[in-house]
Amino acid sequence: MLDPKTDPSFRSGDAKTDVFGSDAMLQQAPVQSIPQGPTTPEIAYQMVKDETFAQTQPRLNLATFVTTYMDEYATRLMNEAVSMNYIDQTEYPRVAVMCQKCINIMANLWNTPETNTWKAGALAIGSSEACMLGGLAALKRWQERRKKAGKPYDKPNLVISTAYQVVWEKFVSFWNIEMRCVPLSVEHPTLDIDAAIRLCDENTICVVPILGVTWSGMNDDVEALDAALDKFNAETGNEVCIHIDAATGGFILPFVEPEKKWDFRLKWVLSISTSGHKFGLVYPGLGWVIWKDKKYLPGDMAFTVNYLGAEVTQVGLNYSRPAAQILGQYYQFIRLGFEGYKNVQLNSLTVARYLHEKVGEMAEFEPYAAEVPNPIFVWRMKADVQKNAKWTLYDLQDKLSQKGWFVPAYTMPANIENMVVMRVLCKQGFSRDMADQLLADISFAVNELNKLEYPTTTRIAMEKNIPLVSKTFNHTGK
Ligand SMILES: *Cc1c(COP(=O)(O)O)cnc(C)c1O
Repeated sequence: MLDPKTDPSFRSGDAKTDVFGSDAMLQQAPVQSIPQGPTTPEIAYQMVKDETFAQTQPRLNLATFVTTYMDEYATRLMNEAVSMNYIDQTEYPRVAVMCQKCINIMANLWNTPETNTWKAGALAIGSSEACMLGGLAALKRWQERRKKAGKPYDKPNLVISTAYQVVWEKFVSFWNIEMRCVPLSVEHPTLDIDAAIRLCDENTICVVPILGVTWSGMNDDVEALDAALDKFNAETGNEVCIHIDAATGGFILPFVEPEKKWDFRLKWVLSISTSGHKFGLVYPGLGWVIWKDKKYLPGDMAFTVNYLGAEVTQVGLNYSRPAAQILGQYYQFIRLGFEGYKNVQLNSLTVARYLHEKVGEMAEFEPYAAEVPNPIFVWRMKADVQKNAKWTLYDLQDKLSQKGWFVPAYTMPANIENMVVMRVLCKQGFSRDMADQLLADISFAVNELNKLEYPTTTRIAMEKNIPLVSKTFNHTGK
């Protein structure tokens, strides 16, 4: 019989006390070692829940690109599927079929020319894995071509703008590829096509344009890149192709600009990746990569294993992974349809453009770009205001977080790395009314900051050219 005095489980005394009256609530949560014995589910739940209690509420997290709102039915479906493993295709064959149906839908949204019933693509845990798979296929196709031609295949390179997301740094490092970067500049806030072509040669596995650059929300011009590569390839006999990192744009452009040619309608676009958990409107983690045709997916990337008596073909870096996201994505396709997605994306864009206009009217600020092609709004302090201000955008970030908002300030990539900007992601769940609340909080904070008599520490650091934030905390994924 346990001593009710020392028993951390309030249950053995049958509701001896409330969770917060239990001894366990006076203990430190485990940091190094697993606790010796069990505790009640109520207490365990409370301890874990409370550790995340004081954080930003997900819907006030305007830093993330990732879905922070799904409706009740989607949430229910995903919760009910939480115990399902996608790779168990023998046990859950309909999940595999559902996944392939999502791949088909994505491929057709991107105007695939493939006529097979089942299009070539893969499920991923996010854009990172999807980019890796697209890049790897490009590497393998290039190696194969070089081998056939009896040419060396040990010095592959990849061409991308300096505004790449960190996954590309991982990709080139994991597979020993040279990364050739086209710097961004004030004149070229997106990929400078001529400069990109100048970096291409017979060893270029692909050029990677970005749709929805994480830093600025802008789009690289894929159509112009495709035309320039076509000319380059015709002149040099090379076959430099395009993989599009459409982490954001892959779910925006098909709905809001269906006429715009950026996808498989273009000759050299052989693969495209996106994040299902960004504007695909599904909770994390979900990504997709699609190839223009099966022939662009190297055979040795598709592993067929005999699993519990069935042949299972799988493309991916992981083996086991959650199935719930597939159900969430398929639900969203059915629930929203083309029109529904279009409405949601247009609303997000409208809210972003509204902020662009309103923040642009404030005396202190100016938008980073004239256009807002994706529901991402980036702004900076006017140069003359910054010169005399006692504060920086980092201080504004701090002030806004006191109201619960998370709006990140960060510096731009190499070449324009002294430029500090602030960014808001307008996603489903962030309405015009919430934007007005945010605007009021920005105005209030700016008013307070303008009253400062002495410069803040970040302002002093900026003056002295001291890095303003640690490298480990950067909202652009770099
Ligand atoms: C978000 C993002 C990634 C990484 O995507 P995850 O889904 O977070 O893995 C890659 N590229 C771009 C352009 C992104 O915006």
